[in-house]
Amino acid sequence: MHSSKAQQVSGARPEGTRIWWSNAVFFVCVHMAAFMGVYYRPPWLVKPASLVLGFLVWQLADFGITIGYHRLYSHKAFRATTGVRIMLAMLGSVAFQGSIKWWCLRHRLHHRYTDDPIHDPYAATRGLLYSHMGWIFFKRNYERLSLIEKDDLERDPVVQFQHKYYVFLALILGFAMPPLLGLLWNDPLGSFIWAGLVSRLFIWHCTFLVNSLAHKNGLQPYSDEDSSRGNLILALLTGGEGNHNFHHSFPNDFRSGPFKLDWDPSKWIILALYRMGLVSGLRTAREVDIVDCLLYTQKKRDSIDAATERWEGVIWDHAQLRRYHQENPLNCILLLDGFVLDVTQYIREHPGGSALLKNYSFSIDKTRGFKGVQWEFHGGFNNHSRTAKKRAREMRIAKLDGTCI
Ligand SMILES: [Zn+2]
Ligand SMILES: [Zn+2]
Repeated sequence: MHSSKAQQVSGARPEGTRIWWSNAVFFVCVHMAAFMGVYYRPPWLVKPASLVLGFLVWQLADFGITIGYHRLYSHKAFRATTGVRIMLAMLGSVAFQGSIKWWCLRHRLHHRYTDDPIHDPYAATRGLLYSHMGWIFFKRNYERLSLIEKDDLERDPVVQFQHKYYVFLALILGFAMPPLLGLLWNDPLGSFIWAGLVSRLFIWHCTFLVNSLAHKNGLQPYSDEDSSRGNLILALLTGGEGNHNFHHSFPNDFRSGPFKLDWDPSKWIILALYRMGLVSGLRTAREVDIVDCLLYTQKKRDSIDAATERWEGVIWDHAQLRRYHQENPLNCILLLDGFVLDVTQYIREHPGGSALLKNYSFSIDKTRGFKGVQWEFHGGFNNHSRTAKKRAREMRIAKLDGTCI
């Protein structure tokens, strides 16, 4: 299903693709077990401590991935002491996403060949489902893997140890630890279900959203050279990894969001560890390059908008506008930046409410002629999204010859 799309894009077929049965069976079984667990032990039938443990496991394992697997090991965005590296390797093991080495090599392929349906392991061009989790079901030989740097990973004893004992570590920390902790509050089964199974689904699917949704929905303020996007909801779900457009532009930056207001708890934890002297060598992109990206993208967007401003339709004078209104007295007509818009069909959809549009709609006061000039918008439309602006352009029926009435 997905490979046919890949063929269309690249004209080639991924070699050595076969079902990865052990992965597929494990993945499906954990989902089924989690759903059954929630059915038999819903939140109101387990100890609150088990639910809290589930939340903590989700968050901690997530940071093992975002701070450890991703920023530290895949991108070398900072250096960390052996103790921190061990802790991150353990937390990452809890996430059940493969060893650091396995994960990083594929992630490096993703950055090097972003969107390439053959060489990007979770290419967004192969569809949302494939990039989210479909790729996990296939065992593939990545022919370009030999071009990816791995010496740094092979030199690190923590990575080597975790790679060798990954399955054992994951099972012990991910599955055995929650019920053992649950014994402390006499709810081992509830802890296993919520911190061993359910939390796993949260960890998996939130991380996977970075591969799928962060290449599908969101803004591209830094670059539109690939499909990566910035998405606040994703940032909230993934310890700050949702600002994916910045990350693809500056992958070695220890931050996912460079600005203070960017939601990026992983960045804040790295900064805290830095102040404690546990990590060093934080890498950041040059500010001038970040600003350059922002300006370039904005300029490009403005020129696209300017191009779509060209008008090849009719041009009305005020008498024609008045006549249109008289012929369609019930229609809601607006004047926006020099264009006449008939928004009658759209008025109920307006996110800002229909009353607002009606209030500013064009009407003729019998005693004073035109009701007034305040109904005309100029530039006041700037806060709307690009989609809203595009929608407004579609509702134009004429350009007004001279906007002042
Ligand atoms: Zn990506
Ligand atoms: Zn990355």
